[in-house]
Amino acid sequence: MQHDQLRIDGARLWDRLMSMAEIGATAKGGCNRQALTDEDKMGRDLFCEWSRNAGCSIRFDQMGNIFARRAGSDFDASPVIAGSHLDTQPTGGKFDGVYGVLAALEVIETLNDNDVETQHPVEAIVWTNEEGARFAPAMIGSGVYSGEFELEFAHDIQDKSGLTLGGELQRIGYAGDNPCAPSAVQAAFEAHIEQGPILEAQDKTIGVVTGVQGMRWFDINLVGEPVHAGPTPMEMRKDPIRALQVIIGEVYKIADRFAPQSRATFGDLNLTPGSRNTVPENVTLAVDIRNPDDDKLDQMEEQMMAAIEKAASDAGVACSVDTIWRSPAVNFNDDCINAVRTGVETLGIDAIEMVSGAGHDSVYLSRVAPTSMIFVPCRDGISHNEAEDAQPEHLEAGTNVLLHAILERAL
Ligand SMILES: [Zn+2]
Repeated sequence: MQHDQLRIDGARLWDRLMSMAEIGATAKGGCNRQALTDEDKMGRDLFCEWSRNAGCSIRFDQMGNIFARRAGSDFDASPVIAGSHLDTQPTGGKFDGVYGVLAALEVIETLNDNDVETQHPVEAIVWTNEEGARFAPAMIGSGVYSGEFELEFAHDIQDKSGLTLGGELQRIGYAGDNPCAPSAVQAAFEAHIEQGPILEAQDKTIGVVTGVQGMRWFDINLVGEPVHAGPTPMEMRKDPIRALQVIIGEVYKIADRFAPQSRATFGDLNLTPGSRNTVPENVTLAVDIRNPDDDKLDQMEEQMMAAIEKAASDAGVACSVDTIWRSPAVNFNDDCINAVRTGVETLGIDAIEMVSGAGHDSVYLSRVAPTSMIFVPCRDGISHNEAEDAQPEHLEAGTNVLLHAILERAL
């Protein structure tokens, strides 16, 4: 068979997604399979069983990342890898992460079914604790692999009951001996549900993901004077809310100025003392700004800082800004993006190019390996939710794109 004609088995993929979803299934149709729980172990065991049956050799590293390898004709060639995560949020869905893992395995099955020999080995990978729900921070398996976190730091992280990540890895039997460190990789792909509404809104089947938004988190602190709501005339107040309303308006204007790719979100607001007939003394506002272009994000941040300073000084209140987190924008690898584009063209699928608004294992992986991602639509853009849903034909199409992107780099 011509390689262009190769197609994955959508029914097998769907059956496996549904079998995996039974592990940690919740009453509302979602999944609770948090990292390194008994359920996560069962999910991992099932993946390893399927992979062994598909003739893969399996190894896992010191972080419990699982690598299922289909050998290539050139034993020493660097592998083309694809994968994602099997862990879920406490009230997570059936597709977030799991899809990317089982799509990679489905590609290997398809290569087997059609006796396709690739020069490069092909690996399906499970990254440990992507969600960060049980052990924070998120993306810790791929993060240690890529050098973002130290192994000891990761092993010492505790869950709410004081159990450590390292101890739980031992307990479920997935603490490997292989060093958790990058090795040569020919190309890395991750198929994932979009977790947003754009593909569905534009009626497209595939998102060719060219990068990930840069994200910055700040706490804006405003300090005024707590005075009585009645006796104190307006012009004699140092009211931090007067500054706050200007800051919020200005930051929304900044987001509009850099539209459509920019984002600005105020997710948390604290007022103290928090009494309805007293001007607050302290206001803390959490701000999350995003843009796929770090230069534009710099400009957004600069304009935001200027607006904060002016609003505070106009209102006669003190202000300070704490930086909580900065995650640089990611530009995926051109060869990998092109491989996905070629896959889309070979299959004649309706696709758009987009950037990811959410973090993924591929963010860290892209620092040490040529990487890109493939998105498929999910219903109403809902994710991290038991109602998360995706259409079998979209999942099949995304896996076919993954197959042809892998062929593009592995043959
Ligand atoms: Zn995910």
